[in-house]
Amino acid sequence: PRCVLLYCRSGFEKECAAEILERAGDLSVSGYVKAKPDSGFVAFTPDSAEAFSACEKGLLYKNLIFARQLVVAAVPLAGLPVADRAQPLLHTARRLGDRFSEIFLETADTNEAKSLAAFLHKFAAPFNRAVRDGGLLGKPAGPRLHVFFLSSTAAYVGISIPGNSCPWPMGIPRLKFPRGAPSRSTLKLEEAFLTFLDDPGRSLSPGMTAVDLGAAPGGWTFQLVRRHLKVTAVDNGNLDPALLDTGLVDHLRMDAFRYRPSKPIDWLVCDVVEQPVRIAALIGEWIAQGLCRRAIFNLKLPMIKRYDEVKRCREIIEERMAKTRGAYALVFKQLYHDRAEITGYFSREIG
Ligand code: SAM
Repeated sequence: PRCVLLYCRSGFEKECAAEILERAGDLSVSGYVKAKPDSGFVAFTPDSAEAFSACEKGLLYKNLIFARQLVVAAVPLAGLPVADRAQPLLHTARRLGDRFSEIFLETADTNEAKSLAAFLHKFAAPFNRAVRDGGLLGKPAGPRLHVFFLSSTAAYVGISIPGNSCPWPMGIPRLKFPRGAPSRSTLKLEEAFLTFLDDPGRSLSPGMTAVDLGAAPGGWTFQLVRRHLKVTAVDNGNLDPALLDTGLVDHLRMDAFRYRPSKPIDWLVCDVVEQPVRIAALIGEWIAQGLCRRAIFNLKLPMIKRYDEVKRCREIIEERMAKTRGAYALVFKQLYHDRAEITGYFSREIG
């Protein structure tokens, strides 16, 4: 039977599984879920063919918090013949679609799966040749084909839909650490921009104003400054002096929970290490009072009941927004650069 395959951060299979069961439930679909601890993926098998097609049509990648990738239709294959793995894989691919835009050869993002890297590297060239000879490529906007290896003889063959999935192999953006950035966290905000913004050039333009709460040493401020935004960086800790030299940064040594801007700003970003519900309440207050148009914030998740905590945070923000007018978007994602944390994005401008 076909299943829905979700890639996630190793250790978050339980959260990813709880979430897919809920989202399937929203579509009135039941099924069973396979979520082996620390495997880096979850497979959800709907109960019937109708349930499966409801999922294929109704599941939205952007509404899934813990899934890095949504492979809407996947078939497990085991016992691949070592002498010719390509043929059974291609045979299954043809059952899923006639032609594809791209082919991703992947594994889970776990240490165990890293041992498959050498095998994948060797297998890629002959497989890609077989794919081309078989005429399976060449449909630019068509589905992507995924071959997700569990071992050198077992894999899921599946498809994802561009626009309702992650564009990167294994759901991982390969970002280069920017020269001169003061902390690794800088990549979190860069990935958040790539993930959440449809038109980053328009939504992050020179001269816009931003506040960075919990800014030190300045990795997030660095991302804003490199796009020529004017930043108020709030933190009792020290900022990288190079940021202050740009003339675009005001450093305020004060409590992030007490600071408010004198007039509305374009962007609020927040990476303060605090209880998630406190961060949610703070963000909720800023956005409900119209103090910013967009916000990106990190929620550090506790060790237990992580998914419940995320839902509480969403409720806190939605309750605040319920008393205001106008449409807004609020989404959460566990980004690749997030560890035991997730990133939230709020925008008043939809689309
Ligand atoms: N985003 C930063 C970067 O990219 O360099 C890293 C931020 S670090 C994870 C968290 C920061 O929050 C620390 O610098 C800490 O001083 C600050 N912080 C924690 N509680 C705070 C509070 N109540 N007010 C202001 N800053 C706070």
